Amino acid sequence: MHVDMNAFFASIEQRDKPCFQGQPIAITNGAKGSCIITCSYEARAFGIKTGMRFTDAKNKCPGLLRCVSDPQKYTKVSSKIMKILYDISPDIEIFSIDEAFLDLTRCKKIYSSPLDAAYLVKDRLFRSLNLPCSIGISTNKSNAKFAAKMKKPDGITVMDPNDSEGILSKYSVKDLCGVSNGMQSFLNYHGVFICGDMKNIPISILGDKFGNIGRKIWLMAQGKDIEELKLHVNTPKSLSHGKITSPNLKNEYDIKKILHLMSEKVARRMRQNGYESNIFLIGIRKKNDWVSKKYKIVNYTNHGGDIFELCLKLINNNLIKDGIYQVQITATNPRPIGIQNDLFLKGMPDKLCLDFTIDEINEKFGSLVLQPARLLKKLDSPDVISPSWRPNGYKKSV
Ligand SMILES: [Mg+2]
Repeated sequence: MHVDMNAFFASIEQRDKPCFQGQPIAITNGAKGSCIITCSYEARAFGIKTGMRFTDAKNKCPGLLRCVSDPQKYTKVSSKIMKILYDISPDIEIFSIDEAFLDLTRCKKIYSSPLDAAYLVKDRLFRSLNLPCSIGISTNKSNAKFAAKMKKPDGITVMDPNDSEGILSKYSVKDLCGVSNGMQSFLNYHGVFICGDMKNIPISILGDKFGNIGRKIWLMAQGKDIEELKLHVNTPKSLSHGKITSPNLKNEYDIKKILHLMSEKVARRMRQNGYESNIFLIGIRKKNDWVSKKYKIVNYTNHGGDIFELCLKLINNNLIKDGIYQVQITATNPRPIGIQNDLFLKGMPDKLCLDFTIDEINEKFGSLVLQPARLLKKLDSPDVISPSWRPNGYKKSV
């Protein structure tokens, strides 16, 4: 089963703000964001799409309302959705902030049919969150995802595996998940325009050019995806946060503020996901090159102040005088917390306790009511949701 929330961010805003209900609305990053992240179905009826510039969209639909994105809210709702889905089947792969695959194989005794489980999903999502979704059901991931797209919004589509090849055969190869523009051109060059054309070329043509993903697409076009659900989460190789600064930034206070903010963000992300690290890569981009240094510290940490101290080691007057363009902070060696620390370690428990308390308060009263004084006056660029974000506990990467 593939579950896909419909116009996810826009549906949440329409649910929460009566003035948006039934209206064409477009979500942008911040009040001045030029690009549309997503829009409501009422806006889509005017031909408005994700990625379009807000000013262009406004020309197509003068009544279009702008809504500023609220990433904290969307990630919270996403976590609730995934929890509901996890109760339907614990064999779940979270595919994005608003999509998941559920394997129902081991739930055969619980639900009388897959369709029955789909109605239950819709009912629970609607009752507890009042949000619509589309559901696709089939015998593999690609078919289920394709089926979910067939009735939007609010539909359920069952794709019988015996019919899948025939159904898919009429659709453009571009409609398959994972076919890039480059791959589409390559396929067109070889005479493959619709999925039904795929069986006319050997799998090796795609395999030689694109490797495993090429072979996978060849199978998917014929309804024969073989990829298993990714149920287990590996420890990430790194966690990082970066920011493009205003160009040629030379104000020492502002530079330190950005480094401090990124340090706190990396630290918070590590805490939220249960990691700590002892190797950090601090990078600062000047006009034409990067200045970066890897720091290894004795004690593993996920405390923002510790990471910021490393940043202070890297910046110096020359660097500030030259002007900076971008910063990047990466924890390169994360490990799950809970591994016993040095028994004679001093200082850590206080910091841990402080971070835990601050995180709890921020979680309860909204994002960042408590933070270091330097960061209280916000930078003017809005938060965005990282594409790899996943709710706690079930993510592939962080
Ligand atoms: Mg969606």
